[in-house]
Amino acid sequence: MVKCQVILDALERIAPRHLAEEWDNPGLLVGSPAQEVNRILVALDVSDHVVHQALEQGAQMIIAHHPLIFRPLKKLRTDLPLGHRLSVLLKHDIAVAAAHTNLDIAQGGVNDVLAEAIGLSKLSSFVITAQHEDGAVESMGRIGCLPSPMTIRDFALQVRQALPTQHVRFVDAGARPVRKVALCSGAGAEFIGKAAALGADAYVTGDVKYHDAQHAAELGMHVIDAGHFGTEFPVVEQLAARLRQELAEVPGGIQVVTDRSSRDFFELA
Ligand SMILES: [Zn+2]
Repeated sequence: MVKCQVILDALERIAPRHLAEEWDNPGLLVGSPAQEVNRILVALDVSDHVVHQALEQGAQMIIAHHPLIFRPLKKLRTDLPLGHRLSVLLKHDIAVAAAHTNLDIAQGGVNDVLAEAIGLSKLSSFVITAQHEDGAVESMGRIGCLPSPMTIRDFALQVRQALPTQHVRFVDAGARPVRKVALCSGAGAEFIGKAAALGADAYVTGDVKYHDAQHAAELGMHVIDAGHFGTEFPVVEQLAARLRQELAEVPGGIQVVTDRSSRDFFELA
């Protein structure tokens, strides 16, 4: 057993809090830094299903990408889903921490995992969120290259096969071959114009709406919507692996287990 703070320190080394967007709510959201932990469950969301897994597997802490508490709470009603979940977590002394936009932006985080999975290399920054004194930048999303040009249809199939999703939707913006690809995990449709301006042949993200697709088509850039879940879930295993490395020296050992059974909320008919 170690104090929860030891885990939070490890998480800080992987996804430093200062990288997070101003509106975000990462860090310890439920519990106390003084709580004892010897098993951590890593997940994308703190759903009822994930809380159930933590109870079954004896995890005293959940680390998730999406913050369980995001907007200020005005009431904590245990007859409503969030309040009920919080009451179960508190009753069983399960701490919850989130690494959200800080994990998107961090080196080796959500966007790097996505880029590697879909076959991109020579990665560079996309939407710059901070610039350091030495000129180095932090960015949301990445731009990378495929080893050789391919059609948008073939690339869309490659993306589908690489990610935990049964389908992808794509905007075919014409015969333009795909080599330079911009991406933003989760919901990144707001950066379609930016990706086109930076010369991307294709843009990979999730949560794309009809008029976003229209905008991309008008700009002559292909877009692949691989889903919010599909573009983000791969980070779960990677985050767990990084936590195991960071916590390898802890006396007595810390078990890090992952949620492997959560699925996208969307089904196909
Ligand atoms: Zn997300």
